[in-house]
Amino acid sequence: MRLVVKNAKIREKEGLVDIVIDDEGKIASVGDAGLNEYPGVDVIDAGGNLVTPTFVDPHLHLDKVYTACKGRGSKYETLEESIEIMHEIKRNYTVEDVKNRAIRAIRESVKFGVTKIRANVDVDNIGGLTPLKGVLAAKEETKDICDIQIVAFPQEGIFRNPGTEKLLYEAMDMGADVIGGMPAAEWLEELSRKHVDLVFEIAKKYDVDIDMHIDQTKDPGAKSLAYSAWKSIQEGYQGRVTGGHCVSLAYQNQAYADKVMELLRLADFNVCVNPGILAIMGVDPEPRTRGITRVRELVEKGVNVATSQDTICDGFHLYGTGNPLDYGLLLAYEAQYNSTGTIEYIMDMITYNSAKVMRLKDYGIEVGAKGDLNIVRAKTVAEAFRLRAPIAYVIKEGKVLAESDYVTDWKI
Ligand SMILES: [Zn+2]
Repeated sequence: MRLVVKNAKIREKEGLVDIVIDDEGKIASVGDAGLNEYPGVDVIDAGGNLVTPTFVDPHLHLDKVYTACKGRGSKYETLEESIEIMHEIKRNYTVEDVKNRAIRAIRESVKFGVTKIRANVDVDNIGGLTPLKGVLAAKEETKDICDIQIVAFPQEGIFRNPGTEKLLYEAMDMGADVIGGMPAAEWLEELSRKHVDLVFEIAKKYDVDIDMHIDQTKDPGAKSLAYSAWKSIQEGYQGRVTGGHCVSLAYQNQAYADKVMELLRLADFNVCVNPGILAIMGVDPEPRTRGITRVRELVEKGVNVATSQDTICDGFHLYGTGNPLDYGLLLAYEAQYNSTGTIEYIMDMITYNSAKVMRLKDYGIEVGAKGDLNIVRAKTVAEAFRLRAPIAYVIKEGKVLAESDYVTDWKI
């Protein structure tokens, strides 16, 4: 035995439990608390606090993090302007600079209980493969504390940004794990479709999953989501494709949206919502809209919905911490989940649903799963989000990576 977490409150079982992690770092048993003694084994007493599987951030732009720490000027506060702001920043990237910023964000994420990240990395004719080289180096240096999947992401489009197609193949050869996409960046709807076709072609060549930014626009005419879901079924890629943002779905009429959501369900499609885009999607006349997808309806229809940080203090977004309890709470507000029942959906989104996006094996609190656990300084899920509670212990495969004596019960 490597470690025992006793007196844990878990969502998967009634009462308090002891979680025993074996020498291989896997969960050996999850039994009622108080039945056994564990002489000679490291024991952490969770004291009835909430214990969750490790948090998973399935969409984080690790190459861009902290590039706006010295400030972010923006005249119109639109998505298009944000993309322009990033051009200037990424033209000046060096591998070392990207690597160091990425490592900082990974360490911060671990502190917040995240030991699995899917990182989007720009591939285009502005930064070339410098962002990828930097994030690959960061991944290698942090491999003991965080499992990272890298998405080769054509932020500027493929046909709109000459040379990107070749660079995407090079990125996959260099070790990217997932192929990304940004069909809405193309000038014409027919080119958006060709973009999706090419992404599937690359995915099949390398046998990798797909994670595209899809329809990140309030334009109801952007319809790459339905096409991508249909394509997933045609190509036998059910369960392997994720759409980030999927904003236009919220701006399309109900009859069309119902049809698309049914197609998403049939395609076993993942939708990843990034609540921080509330600040990015551009300024509306009053009454302002939120710029996020149909979260509640997708959940009700049984589509796998995850949520993620997306951006931390970069050309897109001045804020962001990397803390899932932080952006999860933001999504609870945006989706108007305001009960002890519905806040559980958000906890699912930062754990199991995100693990499904990354297709993680052996995830969860059950015998045989990896001993990747967070002991949260809160008694309930609602309290964890309300307080954005610190993580007392971050445990990866039975080893304590981070601990905090930060308390929530201040004496005043
Ligand atoms: Zn993104």
